[in-house]
Amino acid sequence: CGIVGYLGQRDGRAVVLDGLRRLEYRGYDSAGIAVVANGAVDYRKKAGKIANLAADLDAHPLPVTGTAIGHTRWATHGAPTDANSHPHVAKRAAVVHNGIIENFTVLRAELEREGAVFSSDTDSEVAVHLLERELVAGSGLVQGMRAVVAQLEGAFTLVAIDAEDPDRIVAARRNSPLVVGVGEGEYFLASDVAAFIEHTRDAIELGQDQVVELTPEGVSVTGFDGGPAETREFRIDWDLEA
Ligand code: GLU
Repeated sequence: CGIVGYLGQRDGRAVVLDGLRRLEYRGYDSAGIAVVANGAVDYRKKAGKIANLAADLDAHPLPVTGTAIGHTRWATHGAPTDANSHPHVAKRAAVVHNGIIENFTVLRAELEREGAVFSSDTDSEVAVHLLERELVAGSGLVQGMRAVVAQLEGAFTLVAIDAEDPDRIVAARRNSPLVVGVGEGEYFLASDVAAFIEHTRDAIELGQDQVVELTPEGVSVTGFDGGPAETREFRIDWDLEA
């Protein structure tokens, strides 16, 4: 139901957890965070309130890193359990998803025939195994994400990280919201500006069927087909307390 991403120099774990709290008003049943650090993806996820996730993070801290993604889930496929919470992870890739992947049954069967091991009952988990397959075959995150969305039917905001590419976050959207926050040398992704408004007021709203890439060098938005994309840049000028 809510998505947050952070790429920058700050403690991404804290920025993302705080962003998730600011999206709580949207409603959710589970929450989780994934990071890339030391050449690996690591994550924590919990059913229930963000306080449950925060307690788990206190007890078992994630490594400090400036590359982090987070999710609050409103379950559509699979009960609200720890295992069904997002992020979903493979060996290299971690993915969070808002929306519904309509054709997940067919995709899951195909991936399982190829040896993918699933650990949830969600529609979302196919996205991470599809992406993993692309990364292992040699694609970069952007190219891999394009190949994944070409296979999906339904509504999605997807955000992904790769253990072997620590300074990059890639996201895609179709029929589901996604906004980029542009700070100074730091970038935010969220389903809603409320997640990052205390950090920056400069934002880019993605259009339909677009992929966004965050790196330390900046933000790049393209269409699913790789072509140029029309985005809407805006300044959030409403009052924080409003
Ligand atoms: N359909 C996905 C699930 O049930 C994502 C739900 C959401 O948007 O939070 O896990």
